[in-house]
Amino acid sequence: MRLPSIDPEKCSACGNCEEICPEVFELGDDDRSHVIADDVEGLEACVEAAIENCPEDAITLKDREDGGGNGHE
Ligand code: SF4
Repeated sequence: MRLPSIDPEKCSACGNCEEICPEVFELGDDDRSHVIADDVEGLEACVEAAIENCPEDAITLKDREDGGGNGHE
């Protein structure tokens, strides 16, 4: 499974990703966006659109194995 990941160093909290794909991205109070979904099945198109429309190139897709530990901070 591939899940989006946001580089907090790059994110400028512009809100594009949340606007495009609110099921997956949410702006936090700390001036950056967060990935709120644990599963993006069926949402790949909007994730791709969010990646393409991120002005800072802050969103990347990372492979994550099912059942493995998740990298949530
Ligand atoms: S589109 Fe990119 S820069 Fe804008 S809030 Fe989302 S991750 Fe941050």
